[in-house]
Amino acid sequence: MSDMDEKGRILNSRVLKDNEGRVIDYLRISVTDRCNFRCFYCMPQERVHFFPSNDILRYEEILYLADIFIEMGIRKIRITGGEPLIRRNILFLFEELGKRERLSELTLTTNGTRLSEYAQDLKQAGVRRVNVSLDSLNRETYKRISGIDDFERVIQGIEASKDLGIKLKFNVVAMKGINSDEFSDFVKFGIEKEIDIRFIEVMPQVYNNRIAEDLFVPSKVIKEEIEKVFRLEPLPASDPSSTAALYRIEGSVSTVGLISPLSHPFCSRCNKVRLMPNGCLKTCLFGKEGINLKNLLKKGMTKKELKKEIVKAVLKKPQKYYLNKGKVNLVMHRVGG
Ligand code: SAM
Ligand code: SF4
Repeated sequence: MSDMDEKGRILNSRVLKDNEGRVIDYLRISVTDRCNFRCFYCMPQERVHFFPSNDILRYEEILYLADIFIEMGIRKIRITGGEPLIRRNILFLFEELGKRERLSELTLTTNGTRLSEYAQDLKQAGVRRVNVSLDSLNRETYKRISGIDDFERVIQGIEASKDLGIKLKFNVVAMKGINSDEFSDFVKFGIEKEIDIRFIEVMPQVYNNRIAEDLFVPSKVIKEEIEKVFRLEPLPASDPSSTAALYRIEGSVSTVGLISPLSHPFCSRCNKVRLMPNGCLKTCLFGKEGINLKNLLKKGMTKKELKKEIVKAVLKKPQKYYLNKGKVNLVMHRVGG
């Protein structure tokens, strides 16, 4: 028998849909707001406000909630942060999630600094694909962006993961005057390493509203820069909810993807919800922080009641986001991208 809420909406139908008919099957879990980097477009350079440790979801809580989401139709989970690989005992979470048979994909977004250490165990746990953020191929620029001189360690992590057969993607946040002279170098690097590259338009958020405006490079310009050197052919999206416009690079197995949250928003294809380190559920990257599932767990809510709350929150998922200057409601190192 199906569990129903008071309006007759089925709570265990294994398909989670919002009011726009979008099927929500992708959950991003940000496991920490802490990071070993201080990328200036993501975090304040000093006096970062972190969640008190007591407010952070414990692994048992994350797993309990993940199981509820999986019962409700989530099929893909991405672990993010802050930097997920700096959270203590993080492998436990990957190992446990890797046992969930109904998940078709378990992935990770990382700055790559701890990949060489973890790659083998991540693979063992069932992680087949990893996104590595790499904003410059120049050690000095890399340090200028991230605040840390760790370029070599990231490259070692990339090599270690590649050797193990983990499929990698590079995430590059495009920034005018910072890495805008490197766009085709990234593509060349991707071709050499047989790794796909995703360029992301820099997004405004609480800490960097002004910076994001000054540094913004639209995807159209990124593409024009790359096409001065390489021929790009449009590719149909293999995944209909893909946020990237994809291109094949002539003569290569690697692809280029352009993610344009500002110039070409992808809200109509959005299939995601996000769980923050403190248990808040965000149904839209730029939207308000929604219900706090950790608080509801503390109140002793049953699984059925939690499902009802999740359905209610998903039904309120905004049709699209509205970016009002100075009113951005996003703290990236908490939400995880
Ligand atoms: N620390 C990990 C990393 O850097 O890959 C995971 C968390 S990070 C917040 C996730 C992704 O968000 C990274 O690819 C990062 O470059 C991207 N990101 C952070 N701030 C951004 C911004 N203002 N605009 C666009 N992308 C951003
Ligand atoms: Fe840390 Fe990732 Fe944010 Fe850089 S982008 S500060 S690595 S969370």
